[in-house]
Amino acid sequence: MSDEPEEKFLICVPASTPPLFADDRLGTCCGCGVTLRFRPYHGPAMTPICLPCAMPLLLEHGIEPPDDRTVAEAVAYFAKPEGTA
Ligand SMILES: [Zn+2]
Repeated sequence: MSDEPEEKFLICVPASTPPLFADDRLGTCCGCGVTLRFRPYHGPAMTPICLPCAMPLLLEHGIEPPDDRTVAEAVAYFAKPEGTA
């Protein structure tokens, strides 16, 4: 059955990462509660989730990342030094 509404997750970077755009929005990870940064064009129907929380979900549901480079870029983005607070 595919009638059940599917929760749409939005994989975000932590708010502690340097902002890429001035109009970035902030949200809360549904998994661990960390504050996340995301682009404003993602609607409220999307549930923010951080990458460390999202990966186990993706693997649990057997979902392959659509583009390995995207995931690699996200991981690289996470790994960036936060710089001076
Ligand atoms: Zn999380």
